[in-house]
Amino acid sequence: MANILMLGTGSAGTYDLYNTCFIIQNNEGNFLVDTGGSNEIIRRIDYFNIDYNSLNNIFISHSHTDHIFGLFWLLRKMAGLYKRGIITKKLNIYCNDFVYEAIKQILNHVLSKGLLDIINDLVNYNVVKNGDKHIINGIEYTFFDILAKGIKQYGFKTIINNKKIAFLGDEPLNESLYDNFINYDYLFHEVFCLESEENIYHPFELFHSSTRSLSNMLNKLNIKNVIIYHTEEKHGEKRKELYIKETKEYYSGNVYVPDDLEIIKI
Ligand SMILES: [Zn+2]
Repeated sequence: MANILMLGTGSAGTYDLYNTCFIIQNNEGNFLVDTGGSNEIIRRIDYFNIDYNSLNNIFISHSHTDHIFGLFWLLRKMAGLYKRGIITKKLNIYCNDFVYEAIKQILNHVLSKGLLDIINDLVNYNVVKNGDKHIINGIEYTFFDILAKGIKQYGFKTIINNKKIAFLGDEPLNESLYDNFINYDYLFHEVFCLESEENIYHPFELFHSSTRSLSNMLNKLNIKNVIIYHTEEKHGEKRKELYIKETKEYYSGNVYVPDDLEIIKI
């Protein structure tokens, strides 16, 4: 059993929503997947009363602003707690080599030498290659290259509570990977906009999906549940209802469109 704590569900250009990132929480700890783009990450973690000593694993899918920049605020905070002995465990960061280079470069430019020394002591970097497996909080995760059309990006697949689950970052599942996810129980998948608003948001030019393009793939692969995130935010409180309705016009499985700070149980 795990809880998915949705810290944010928005896209890169959000104003009211936080950028997409979430925590996989089980009785062994908290695994943070992406960090959003600002210090709002800290408020979101605190909203769920997360003990920082149980937040020992972070995965960064790719180095775009809306996924990586929250990390620097979080490391700054955690370095202070580590220095004061409140955090006693090491922090594992999992990412591909391109993200690792970005983190190191940015850290060197934005934090003081004193903080960098603490962070170097606190953090274990795990640079993942396609197919690498790691056990995180007792759960095995296989990290893989999603073959993104934009920047180098990784996702992961895992089994939680006997459910096959894949997190696919913020691009549509690449067709060459379809065979790997047939009959999956849960896909975490981006959708940028409604089908009826494709002409406004041009999702395909931005390497994103609409409700229709997602549904077609879900049907083809016989996916049982989809968790949709990384959307535009124009529809406010109506977003959930509108996105579920449109996705279900073409797809018969369960559709989750979580709000920011919603919890999904798996
Ligand atoms: Zn993004």
